[in-house]
Amino acid sequence: MTRQAKTPRPSAKKGTGYTLIDAPWRFKYFDSPKETGCFICRAIASDPRLDAKNLLLVRGERAVIMLNRYPYTMGALMVAPVAHRGDFRALDEKTLSEMNRLVKRSLNILQAAVHPKGFNLGINQGEAAGAGLQDHLHTHVVPRWDADTNFMTTIGGSRVLAEDIDSMYRRLRRAIKNGA
Ligand SMILES: [Zn+2]
Repeated sequence: MTRQAKTPRPSAKKGTGYTLIDAPWRFKYFDSPKETGCFICRAIASDPRLDAKNLLLVRGERAVIMLNRYPYTMGALMVAPVAHRGDFRALDEKTLSEMNRLVKRSLNILQAAVHPKGFNLGINQGEAAGAGLQDHLHTHVVPRWDADTNFMTTIGGSRVLAEDIDSMYRRLRRAIKNGA
């Protein structure tokens, strides 16, 4: 018996060869009017009292952590430089260093708040790479659970609405307040 036969991956059973993550709330992204300008810059420039509305979680000196409003997986975070840059090579060492610290912190926040079993970390640079917002680079920190269920599935939620994003934001803020 091969190792693969002993532990088939869920996606392998379906024979699709890839994993489809169910994310119905993303339809709101496609339906909503497209914002002009950069939402990351707008959130950073906004009054910190509006951070919850803007889903801004942590303000650093050179980088920030934001909650993704239209995630493939609920709880997906983004670590972005304060500087509006679309190319990784345009970021200076201090910014990269702070981004790395905030990626680590994102893992701690998610671990404390939603107990994922794993993470995907990565940057999509350029349209061909799948970057939704091309001009303002950001590192995705995506929590993952077994069998590609997500947090909303594990707590039994069947519908994910805007208020779910807000409650996720509050949950993450609580984790930060408690030291994550
Ligand atoms: Zn920007």
